[in-house]
Amino acid sequence: MPRSFVKEARRRVGPKRVRIREIIDRLAAAHPDATIALKSRSPLELLVAVMLSAQTTDVNVNLVTEKLFAKYRKPEDYLAVPPEELERDIFATGFFRQKAKAIRGTMAMLLTEFDGEVPRTLEELVRLPGVGRKTANVVAAELGEAQGIVVDTHVRRLSQRLGLTREEDPVKIERDLKRLVPRADWGRFPHLLIWHGRRVCDARRPRCEDCVLAADLCPSSRV
Ligand code: SF4
Repeated sequence: MPRSFVKEARRRVGPKRVRIREIIDRLAAAHPDATIALKSRSPLELLVAVMLSAQTTDVNVNLVTEKLFAKYRKPEDYLAVPPEELERDIFATGFFRQKAKAIRGTMAMLLTEFDGEVPRTLEELVRLPGVGRKTANVVAAELGEAQGIVVDTHVRRLSQRLGLTREEDPVKIERDLKRLVPRADWGRFPHLLIWHGRRVCDARRPRCEDCVLAADLCPSSRV
Protein backbone atom coordinates (compact mmCIF):
# COMPACT_ATOMS: atom_id res chain seq x y z
CA MET A 1 0.00 0.00 0.00
CA PRO A 2 1.51 3.39 -0.93
CA ARG A 3 2.65 5.50 2.03
CA SER A 4 0.40 8.45 1.18
CA PHE A 5 -2.65 6.16 1.13
CA VAL A 6 -1.79 4.74 4.57
CA LYS A 7 -1.35 8.25 5.97
CA GLU A 8 -4.65 9.36 4.50
CA ALA A 9 -6.42 6.27 5.88
CA ARG A 10 -4.99 6.92 9.37
CA ARG A 11 -6.19 10.53 9.22
CA ARG A 12 -9.63 9.37 8.11
CA VAL A 13 -10.19 7.08 11.12
CA GLY A 14 -8.51 9.27 13.75
CA PRO A 15 -6.18 8.43 16.65
CA LYS A 16 -6.25 4.91 18.08
CA ARG A 17 -6.88 6.19 21.63
CA VAL A 18 -10.13 7.73 20.46
CA ARG A 19 -11.16 4.63 18.46
CA ILE A 20 -10.36 1.83 20.89
CA ARG A 21 -13.53 1.98 23.06
CA GLU A 22 -15.80 1.87 20.01
CA ILE A 23 -13.72 -0.93 18.42
CA ILE A 24 -14.12 -3.09 21.54
CA ASP A 25 -17.84 -2.34 21.88
CA ARG A 26 -18.65 -3.07 18.24
CA LEU A 27 -16.65 -6.30 18.23
CA ALA A 28 -18.31 -7.39 21.49
CA ALA A 29 -21.74 -6.76 19.95
CA ALA A 30 -20.78 -8.62 16.75
CA HIS A 31 -19.24 -11.61 18.58
CA PRO A 32 -21.12 -12.08 21.87
CA ASP A 33 -19.94 -15.72 21.91
CA ALA A 34 -16.22 -14.85 21.68
CA THR A 35 -14.68 -16.93 24.43
CA ILE A 36 -11.89 -19.48 24.67
CA ALA A 37 -12.61 -22.51 22.46
CA LEU A 38 -10.69 -24.95 24.69
CA LYS A 39 -12.96 -26.97 26.97
CA SER A 40 -12.14 -27.28 30.68
CA ARG A 41 -13.98 -27.55 33.99
CA SER A 42 -11.27 -26.55 36.44
CA PRO A 43 -8.08 -24.45 36.60
CA LEU A 44 -6.01 -27.64 36.32
CA GLU A 45 -7.85 -28.78 33.18
CA LEU A 46 -7.53 -25.28 31.73
CA LEU A 47 -3.77 -25.27 32.30
CA VAL A 48 -3.32 -28.70 30.68
CA ALA A 49 -5.56 -27.81 27.72
CA VAL A 50 -3.62 -24.62 27.03
CA MET A 51 -0.30 -26.47 27.31
CA LEU A 52 -1.55 -29.04 24.79
CA SER A 53 -2.80 -26.39 22.36
CA ALA A 54 0.66 -25.38 21.13
CA GLN A 55 1.06 -26.13 17.40
CA THR A 56 -2.37 -27.70 17.01
CA THR A 57 -6.04 -26.73 16.75
CA ASP A 58 -8.43 -26.20 19.65
CA VAL A 59 -10.77 -28.79 18.10
CA ASN A 60 -7.99 -31.37 18.21
CA VAL A 61 -7.17 -30.57 21.84
CA ASN A 62 -10.83 -30.87 22.85
CA LEU A 63 -11.03 -34.33 21.27
CA VAL A 64 -7.98 -35.46 23.24
CA THR A 65 -8.90 -33.86 26.56
CA GLU A 66 -12.37 -35.37 26.60
CA LYS A 67 -10.81 -38.74 27.43
CA LEU A 68 -7.69 -37.36 29.13
CA PHE A 69 -9.58 -35.44 31.81
CA ALA A 70 -11.73 -38.46 32.64
CA LYS A 71 -8.54 -40.39 33.41
CA TYR A 72 -6.31 -37.70 34.99
CA ARG A 73 -8.19 -35.71 37.62
CA LYS A 74 -5.44 -34.43 39.95
CA PRO A 75 -1.76 -33.48 39.54
CA GLU A 76 -0.74 -36.80 41.14
CA ASP A 77 -2.55 -38.77 38.41
CA TYR A 78 -0.19 -37.41 35.72
CA LEU A 79 2.80 -38.61 37.74
CA ALA A 80 1.32 -41.99 38.68
CA VAL A 81 1.59 -43.44 35.15
CA PRO A 82 4.80 -44.17 33.19
CA PRO A 83 5.80 -41.21 30.97
CA GLU A 84 5.13 -43.32 27.85
CA GLU A 85 1.49 -43.82 28.88
CA LEU A 86 0.91 -40.06 29.16
CA GLU A 87 2.70 -39.60 25.82
CA ARG A 88 0.28 -42.08 24.23
CA ASP A 89 -2.72 -40.33 25.79
CA ILE A 90 -1.77 -36.94 24.30
CA PHE A 91 -0.17 -38.26 21.10
CA ALA A 92 -2.80 -36.76 18.78
CA THR A 93 -1.93 -33.18 19.83
CA GLY A 94 1.56 -33.48 18.32
CA PHE A 95 4.94 -32.79 19.98
CA PHE A 96 3.73 -35.36 22.50
CA ARG A 97 7.13 -36.10 24.11
CA GLN A 98 7.86 -32.45 24.77
CA LYS A 99 4.32 -31.81 26.01
CA ALA A 100 4.26 -34.88 28.27
CA LYS A 101 7.57 -33.84 29.82
CA ALA A 102 6.29 -30.29 30.39
CA ILE A 103 3.03 -31.53 31.90
CA ARG A 104 4.80 -33.93 34.26
CA GLY A 105 7.28 -31.23 35.33
CA THR A 106 4.44 -28.80 35.88
CA MET A 107 2.44 -31.29 37.96
CA ALA A 108 5.50 -32.02 40.13
CA MET A 109 6.00 -28.28 40.75
CA LEU A 110 2.31 -27.72 41.48
CA LEU A 111 2.56 -30.37 44.20
CA THR A 112 5.85 -29.23 45.72
CA GLU A 113 5.38 -25.46 45.54
CA PHE A 114 1.71 -24.64 45.16
CA ASP A 115 -0.16 -27.22 47.31
CA GLY A 116 -1.43 -28.89 44.14
CA GLU A 117 -3.28 -25.72 43.02
CA VAL A 118 -2.79 -23.72 39.80
CA PRO A 119 -1.22 -20.34 40.70
CA ARG A 120 -2.90 -17.14 39.47
CA THR A 121 -0.11 -14.68 38.84
CA LEU A 122 1.90 -14.46 35.65
CA GLU A 123 5.19 -14.55 37.58
CA GLU A 124 4.24 -17.84 39.25
CA LEU A 125 2.72 -19.39 36.13
CA VAL A 126 5.81 -18.81 33.97
CA ARG A 127 7.93 -20.67 36.55
CA LEU A 128 6.09 -23.90 35.69
CA PRO A 129 8.13 -26.08 33.30
CA GLY A 130 7.02 -25.63 29.69
CA VAL A 131 4.70 -22.72 30.52
CA GLY A 132 5.68 -19.69 28.45
CA ARG A 133 4.33 -16.17 28.63
CA LYS A 134 1.53 -16.84 26.13
CA THR A 135 0.23 -19.90 28.00
CA ALA A 136 0.50 -18.05 31.31
CA ASN A 137 -1.39 -15.06 29.92
CA VAL A 138 -4.23 -17.25 28.62
CA VAL A 139 -4.55 -19.13 31.92
CA ALA A 140 -4.42 -15.99 34.08
CA ALA A 141 -7.02 -14.25 31.89
CA GLU A 142 -9.40 -17.22 31.97
CA LEU A 143 -9.07 -17.43 35.74
CA GLY A 144 -10.31 -13.84 35.87
CA GLU A 145 -6.99 -12.17 36.58
CA ALA A 146 -5.67 -11.02 33.21
CA GLN A 147 -2.21 -9.55 33.67
CA GLY A 148 -1.35 -9.18 30.04
CA ILE A 149 -2.87 -9.43 26.57
CA VAL A 150 -2.47 -12.65 24.63
CA VAL A 151 -0.93 -12.06 21.21
CA ASP A 152 -1.41 -14.86 18.69
CA THR A 153 -1.40 -14.71 14.90
CA HIS A 154 -4.94 -13.22 14.69
CA VAL A 155 -4.30 -10.62 17.40
CA ARG A 156 -1.11 -9.60 15.68
CA ARG A 157 -2.69 -9.29 12.21
CA LEU A 158 -5.78 -7.41 13.37
CA SER A 159 -3.87 -5.07 15.69
CA GLN A 160 -1.70 -4.11 12.73
CA ARG A 161 -4.60 -3.73 10.30
CA LEU A 162 -6.54 -1.64 12.81
CA GLY A 163 -3.51 0.60 13.27
CA LEU A 164 -3.17 -0.23 16.98
CA THR A 165 0.51 -1.13 16.63
CA ARG A 166 3.30 -0.87 14.08
CA GLU A 167 5.34 -3.61 15.74
CA GLU A 168 5.99 -7.15 14.47
CA ASP A 169 7.34 -8.73 17.64
CA PRO A 170 4.55 -10.20 19.89
CA VAL A 171 6.14 -8.84 23.08
CA LYS A 172 6.21 -5.29 21.65
CA ILE A 173 2.67 -5.67 20.27
CA GLU A 174 1.48 -6.72 23.72
CA ARG A 175 3.22 -3.69 25.24
CA ASP A 176 1.42 -1.36 22.78
CA LEU A 177 -1.95 -3.01 23.41
CA LYS A 178 -1.55 -2.86 27.19
CA ARG A 179 -1.04 0.90 26.95
CA LEU A 180 -4.13 1.27 24.80
CA VAL A 181 -6.77 -1.25 25.90
CA PRO A 182 -8.55 -0.55 29.22
CA ARG A 183 -7.41 -3.06 31.84
CA ALA A 184 -10.93 -4.38 32.39
CA ASP A 185 -10.90 -5.56 28.74
CA TRP A 186 -7.49 -7.28 28.70
CA GLY A 187 -9.06 -10.74 29.09
CA ARG A 188 -11.71 -10.54 26.39
CA PHE A 189 -9.90 -8.31 23.88
CA PRO A 190 -7.81 -11.14 22.33
CA HIS A 191 -10.92 -13.35 22.02
CA LEU A 192 -12.72 -10.57 20.16
CA LEU A 193 -9.84 -10.17 17.70
CA ILE A 194 -9.41 -13.93 17.30
CA TRP A 195 -13.10 -14.50 16.50
CA HIS A 196 -13.24 -11.47 14.23
CA GLY A 197 -10.11 -12.71 12.49
CA ARG A 198 -11.61 -16.15 11.96
CA ARG A 199 -15.03 -14.98 10.83
CA VAL A 200 -14.44 -11.71 8.98
CA CYS A 201 -10.89 -10.37 8.83
CA ASP A 202 -9.28 -13.35 7.13
CA ALA A 203 -5.50 -13.24 6.61
CA ARG A 204 -5.78 -13.42 2.81
CA ARG A 205 -9.26 -12.16 2.09
CA PRO A 206 -10.63 -9.76 4.67
CA ARG A 207 -14.37 -9.34 4.14
CA CYS A 208 -14.41 -5.58 4.70
CA GLU A 209 -17.86 -5.30 3.14
CA ASP A 210 -19.27 -7.34 6.07
CA CYS A 211 -17.13 -5.77 8.80
CA VAL A 212 -18.61 -3.69 11.62
CA LEU A 213 -15.39 -1.66 11.81
CA ALA A 214 -15.01 -0.94 8.11
CA ALA A 215 -16.53 2.45 7.52
CA ASP A 216 -15.00 4.60 10.22
CA LEU A 217 -12.69 2.62 12.51
CA CYS A 218 -10.30 0.64 10.34
CA PRO A 219 -7.50 2.32 8.33
CA SER A 220 -7.06 -0.89 6.28
CA SER A 221 -10.68 -1.04 5.14
CA ARG A 222 -11.16 -1.68 1.44
CA VAL A 223 -14.68 -0.25 1.33
S1 SF4 B 1 -12.38 -3.34 7.72
FE1 SF4 B 1 -11.40 -5.05 6.64
S2 SF4 B 1 -9.25 -5.00 7.22
FE2 SF4 B 1 -10.39 -3.72 8.70
S3 SF4 B 1 -10.85 -5.12 10.42
FE3 SF4 B 1 -12.60 -5.14 9.01
S4 SF4 B 1 -12.21 -6.89 7.63
FE4 SF4 B 1 -10.28 -6.38 8.65
